[in-house]
Amino acid sequence: MNGDLRRAELTSALTGVSERIASAARVVDRQPQDITLVVVTKSWPVSDIRLLHELGVRDFAENRHQDAETKATEVAELGLRWHFVGQIQSNKAARIASYADVVHSVDSARVARRLDLGAHKHDREIDCLVQVSLDDETAQVGRGGVGWADLEAVAIAIHSAGALRLAGVMGLAPAAGDRASAYQRLGEASRAVRSIAPSAMVVSAGMSGDFEAAILAGATHVRVGSAILGERPALR
Ligand SMILES: *Cc1c(COP(=O)(O)O)cnc(C)c1O
Repeated sequence: MNGDLRRAELTSALTGVSERIASAARVVDRQPQDITLVVVTKSWPVSDIRLLHELGVRDFAENRHQDAETKATEVAELGLRWHFVGQIQSNKAARIASYADVVHSVDSARVARRLDLGAHKHDREIDCLVQVSLDDETAQVGRGGVGWADLEAVAIAIHSAGALRLAGVMGLAPAAGDRASAYQRLGEASRAVRSIAPSAMVVSAGMSGDFEAAILAGATHVRVGSAILGERPALR
């Protein structure tokens, strides 16, 4: 696509999403700048990342290690903040620690230990969120995350790791069904994690279809892809 056309398209979509974030924030008496917009660029080219950077975006996310590593390396000179939001195979965790600034999807003590090893090796410190399962009983396919029984153990594994900082919780609300009760469970998980680390204030929730509802329910970070970049091209 013509670069000017794409720039115009991204400018208008980003402005629209930012305005919706700001209005939702005001409804719950928060400042728009208290909400971090993380743009999920999975399946989109690095040229879009450069355009979004020119438009002021600094927080970017990917959900697959290989793509994340390639893109983060290609635009290393921009000094972006990279968020890893996908399921983590523990044999990839140490590599993810070489470029990710924030990992939203820590769902086991084992993954936490591997991230910590990688972070030490690369002399980095990484913010980690515990991914909390928000699946209800009717879920056919789990969307990942720890259940209530393991929440504390995973949070403590992060908190006690030297190169990791326990920063909060992340959840993927069910696509259909009772989002309100899913956000409520995420809120309870957030309180439990803050009882371990009071500074762990991040609540990462909300995507293109529900970011306003997530902000009303207490999200501090929203992860938005298609509402800004468009419907994803078929995954290669
Ligand atoms: C793709 C993805 C998003 C963004 O989804 P959109 O519906 O495109 O906004 C958010 N979070 C995670 C974990 C994702 O994989």
